[in-house]
Amino acid sequence: MAATEQELHEFREEVSAWMKVNKPADPDFLLPQSFMEVGDERQLEFLREWQFRLWSAGYLGMAWPKAYGGGGAEPVFQSIADQEMRRHNVPICFNVIGLGWAGPLIKDIGTEEAKAKYLKGILNAEDIWCQGFSEPDHGSDLGNAQTRAVREADQYVLNGQKIWTTMGNFAKYMILLARTNPEAERKYDGLSFFLSPMHVEGVETRPIRKITGEYGFTETFFTDARIPLDCLMGEEGQGWKIAMQTLQYERGAEAGAAGGLSMIRVTVQDMLDSLQGVCRDGEPVLEDPVVRDAVVQAIMEEKALMLGLRRMGIGPLNTDYPGSIALSSKLRASEVTRRLRQLAIGLQGAEGGLYVGDPAARQGGFWQRAYFNSFSATIGGGTSQVQANIVAEHILGLPK
Ligand SMILES: Cc1cc2nc3c(=O)[nH]c(=O)nc-3n(C[C@H](O)[C@H](O)[C@H](O)COP(=O)(O)OP(=O)(O)OC[C@H]3O[C@@H](n4cnc5c(N)ncnc54)[C@H](O)[C@@H]3O)c2cc1C
Repeated sequence: MAATEQELHEFREEVSAWMKVNKPADPDFLLPQSFMEVGDERQLEFLREWQFRLWSAGYLGMAWPKAYGGGGAEPVFQSIADQEMRRHNVPICFNVIGLGWAGPLIKDIGTEEAKAKYLKGILNAEDIWCQGFSEPDHGSDLGNAQTRAVREADQYVLNGQKIWTTMGNFAKYMILLARTNPEAERKYDGLSFFLSPMHVEGVETRPIRKITGEYGFTETFFTDARIPLDCLMGEEGQGWKIAMQTLQYERGAEAGAAGGLSMIRVTVQDMLDSLQGVCRDGEPVLEDPVVRDAVVQAIMEEKALMLGLRRMGIGPLNTDYPGSIALSSKLRASEVTRRLRQLAIGLQGAEGGLYVGDPAARQGGFWQRAYFNSFSATIGGGTSQVQANIVAEHILGLPK
């Protein structure tokens, strides 16, 4: 029986009270602003402990089956818990590749053995997951991935290189796309999908430094790395289909996601608060009519994004272009986020050029760091240009 309004209201109060008491104090080091920026052990352990606490309290994986560590509740409860996490500005849940993509995939199409083996460890943050799709010459062109998986007796032998592997150096498992049949007529049919262990001989990761000076992803090398046959998900040759299903989760079809915040929340209001006291030509910058125009534009974009997501949940409002909001939300959300952060720095005037570590930087350089980091989401999981192609072809019906 569906939960009543009263039950949902009481649940919201309960979560809110819990967040108030349990939100951890800021540590004496910078926390990542998204799951793509976990760069060192201190950050990792802090976030691991937070995710464990959230799960132990029952506010993560609420809609996943109880048998695998979930709460067995209606998804609406997880939505409410997520809203309260956002409202209370709590830390992110860093194990996003597990919680948002690998986990839902295993839950939806995995074997019973896979569900029993992997799901609980994803929720309680014991097992960190990474994603091995992109290769140095095959990012957007994922269908041409060349990392090889060759079957030898009761094992697959992996050779090749992946790149931009978020949390590759911390992960215990990888969702891996590799080529099992280089002779396949269609390149897509030669690919297979693996739930692959990282801690085996022949797998090496090398962290990559970002424009922020911080870390978060790796190059990942496979040199005769041997993994068991049962790491294969589905059948050989089904890798492309399974990878596409994973990308659907990654690009915003979050119905199966376990919940938790994947990145910090930054709103137009936060920007306005941060600009108090900033002047342009002797007047408060926020009173400049041109600036006000830009701020109104940002407010409209933020509202449109939020209302779009609400609209997505109301079937009859989506009959004109079915699936359009889900398919376009990654593109819109990542670009709106980047634009807002860019605007915030621009409005700081000369201070906009200061960075984290400079004592004169506004809010410790928060917005500058956030701006650099905001490019991550416009590239990872498919670049904005590729997303725009998808919208053009699949929603608007434009020619290739
Ligand atoms: C922070 C971050 C984290 C990431 N994490 C992971 C991860 O965990 N696992 C993983 O596998 N990958 C990860 N990636 C990689 C990401 O998926 C790729 O960077 C992305 O798919 C683009 O591929 P590429 O870098 O090879 O760029 P390219 O594909 O070489 O693209 C270069 C440029 O050409 C444009 N372009 C390419 N093809 C087209 C086209 N058909 N039409 C129009 N324009 C086009 C692109 O938009 C881009 O501007 C991550 C990336 C980032 C930035």
